[in-house]
Amino acid sequence: MAVKDQRTVERELLNPPAHRTGGTVGDDVMTVHKVRDGKPLCGAVGSVDVWQRRVTCSACLASEWPPDSRPGG
Ligand SMILES: [Zn+2]
Repeated sequence: MAVKDQRTVERELLNPPAHRTGGTVGDDVMTVHKVRDGKPLCGAVGSVDVWQRRVTCSACLASEWPPDSRPGG
């Protein structure tokens, strides 16, 4: 496993890859879900607002990103 240098880590923190953004669903703006293809991974239903925020949904955190969403496979 390659070790990322600090500059790379900072860049990803400031500008996360689009396929790894989080989002809120419906009126619950406090819970940030992992969003992929416009849908929360945990299956929450509602209108999705995508944010570049840290994911807080425990159900989404428990589910890994699908393998095909990882950079470089
Ligand atoms: Zn979720």
